[in-house]
Amino acid sequence: MYHAGDDPADPHSTPRGSAVAGRMPTARWPIRPPPLPHELFSSWLVRLASANSIKVGTFLHVIADRPRAFAQDIDRYVPPDLAAAVAAGTGVPVREIRDMALARYAGAIFPQFFRHGSTSWILPLGRYHATQRRAAVQFCPECLRNDATPYFRRYWRLACVVGCAQHGRLLRDMCGHCSAPIAFHRTTLGDRHRFESQPLTECTRCGGDLTTTISEPMLPRLTEFLGALHPSLLHGADVMDTCAGRLPTVEVLAVLHHFSRLLAHGRWGAPLRNAARELGARLPVVTTGERRGFVLEYAPLAVRAALLDSALLLWTRWPTSFSVLCAEHRVWHSALLADFRRAPPWYRRRIRSELYLPGFVPPPSGFRSDRLQATGTRQHPKALQATRRHQRIKVR
Ligand SMILES: [Zn+2]
Ligand SMILES: [Zn+2]
Repeated sequence: MYHAGDDPADPHSTPRGSAVAGRMPTARWPIRPPPLPHELFSSWLVRLASANSIKVGTFLHVIADRPRAFAQDIDRYVPPDLAAAVAAGTGVPVREIRDMALARYAGAIFPQFFRHGSTSWILPLGRYHATQRRAAVQFCPECLRNDATPYFRRYWRLACVVGCAQHGRLLRDMCGHCSAPIAFHRTTLGDRHRFESQPLTECTRCGGDLTTTISEPMLPRLTEFLGALHPSLLHGADVMDTCAGRLPTVEVLAVLHHFSRLLAHGRWGAPLRNAARELGARLPVVTTGERRGFVLEYAPLAVRAALLDSALLLWTRWPTSFSVLCAEHRVWHSALLADFRRAPPWYRRRIRSELYLPGFVPPPSGFRSDRLQATGTRQHPKALQATRRHQRIKVR
């Protein structure tokens, strides 16, 4: 095989064997498979290492002195030195490499990306050293099966992407053979007897073929939603078509995120759950362990899919029928706005004008307290009715 440094005519060549940690030869790497459409950065990195017959840890050690780069979530944000090293070795522009990370969805899918800490809709890996504890890497078995070169898509790391719009099936987040989280970066890691490249579609725990994993058909509502979301996932479009018209994607997703949290559990969400059930929503059973400090991004794929489908069912009633439904089930602004700091203006306006129940002053943490206070301000007629009937608050 040709090695960088073998060509004496190459002014950038480095003598063979002289590659040391962080001192990558400035010449292009011998084999440079280009990134595939919408590929996740780590997926491409593992393919690059495999193509050059180097274990991925060694590869990272040589190119950027980062042998433990995978202890972090490099798909959230590509460290600048690593992006520069890969750009130098492959010829792919740094900007394009940084766009392979999830941070590029800031403004399109989530309002703001937090480099440290959690960001809404990004599935956390829960990685400790090279061990991955959470099922955060999702995949569509059919997409992988149909790929000429199987690879993982960037948008499969988002909690709102629960299925594949192309194949109409739910994604999977675990090996179908041993239920291990997907950790393709562990290919041949620590196996001193195996040097041939391992395909990304091989489970690193049991060796099973991920493409033979069975995935369930997706409900039409979810398929339609993911189809509408696709331009934002693929090209960063900042608006999407919904039943309520063309709206900013990030705002529609924020509302669906809030509905999903309310539908998951908690006293504040109980009336909204009743409303959703009346529409025919099949709400998931959230276990006691999941209820404590429920975070949508930590929920299993099946739970997320059921919550998102129910949230979409409510969304199909927005705006007029939604207000009527909420008033009938006594879902007031307190629940619909509490702990919703980034509520879109159009959503906030509508909830305040139609579902405002004076006396319901959402406490700083509305989900933990139902203490009501009277304010004596204007009152919606239906709200007033409900108030008097139940005598839950005192109007000054
Ligand atoms: Zn697919
Ligand atoms: Zn497995």
